[in-house]
Amino acid sequence: MKTAKSLSQSINDDDLVKCGKRVNKTNRLVGQNPCAGVYESVIECYVCGPKHLRHSYQLEYSVSLSLPSHKQYSLEDLLSNHFKSEVIQEYTCLRCSILQYMPKAQPREKQFLNSVLSQCCEFDKESLLRTWYHISEEPMAIHFQNRKILKSTKVLKRPKTLVIHIQRSTINQFGDPVLNNQFVPYPELLNFSSKQY
Ligand SMILES: [Zn+2]
Repeated sequence: MKTAKSLSQSINDDDLVKCGKRVNKTNRLVGQNPCAGVYESVIECYVCGPKHLRHSYQLEYSVSLSLPSHKQYSLEDLLSNHFKSEVIQEYTCLRCSILQYMPKAQPREKQFLNSVLSQCCEFDKESLLRTWYHISEEPMAIHFQNRKILKSTKVLKRPKTLVIHIQRSTINQFGDPVLNNQFVPYPELLNFSSKQY
């Protein structure tokens, strides 16, 4: 199983340059709120492979951690769970969807779809496609493909003040909401760095 660290190490320099503009824009927003941090998600589609990793950047004002009820967890355990890589079975892969449509595409559509594929951020790919759908009189009949993916999230820029939310409400076997009152031990000093998570 690949870890978040090994995935992020495989991001190449070209991708970082392309994404730099977006990260810098986000960094300016971060400066305005001490609780804002930037988190990077990296997605690897099992069909597209490790050469075509997708990056997206989220600006978050808190980290929301789920608290499983079957044993006691420390704050570090919850953070490790939150940032560990996960396999998702049904994820709409834009690259797979576009490549499947490509042989049927008109020359003008092909040119546009190649520019969509050259975007390294999923957000940019999606907004370009959305724009095309809004302005085009004949939208492309892309059949969106669901794929198995590996997703990892890491801390790109730490917030000055970290706000942690522990999700204590769960649903019991009768469908009623219950509160998990379990104590979560926490350290005096928390290492919340991009090396750690
Ligand atoms: Zn794919």
